[in-house]
Amino acid sequence: MEEGGVNVIDLTQADESFIKELVELGAEELRECIQCGKCASTCPMALAGLEFFIKRIIHAANLGLRDVLLEDSSVWGCQSCNRCVEICPMDVKPYEVIQAVRRAAMKVESCPANTYEGLRNLYRFGHAVYPKGYEERRKKVGLPEKPPTAISFDELRKKYQEVLKQTILEEIAPFPLD
Ligand code: SF4
Ligand code: SF4
Repeated sequence: MEEGGVNVIDLTQADESFIKELVELGAEELRECIQCGKCASTCPMALAGLEFFIKRIIHAANLGLRDVLLEDSSVWGCQSCNRCVEICPMDVKPYEVIQAVRRAAMKVESCPANTYEGLRNLYRFGHAVYPKGYEERRKKVGLPEKPPTAISFDELRKKYQEVLKQTILEEIAPFPLD
């Protein structure tokens, strides 16, 4: 919530059960955070200017602000670099908190549309990013239609799909897993 240019946290939204859910989803050391800010001082996304990033996400998670977190698209901007994990003096593993929030969001299908697009591509082609017309463009510059990655090896792609089917994707099925 924003009032007169200052971010105000609405504590009436605090939900203890969401904190427990995040802990169960992998944010096991969440409660150890002392809000020192070291994670934000090293996070490339926070340094790039994302307003609501890692330290605040940990804070919101510790307050159980479910709606705030599930509606925050910056959660999906984490680059998985793990700098925050290395620097945190309390071993909170902030990256794991991000992952737990993402898992919670997946459970209620509250994630950006391009996340599903990336997952669908990953499932079908073995690439999260698979732009339209890719084969044509490769051919034009003298490359084989498909790169020598999972997309070119059916066996490998099927193994990939088996692994993805063991995740929450099987449960929420945001696209056909055939
Ligand atoms: S997660 Fe760790 S580094 Fe980040 S504010 Fe909390 S204690 Fe500090
Ligand atoms: S893992 Fe994510 S949250 Fe942690 S420092 Fe890297 S980008 Fe930031």
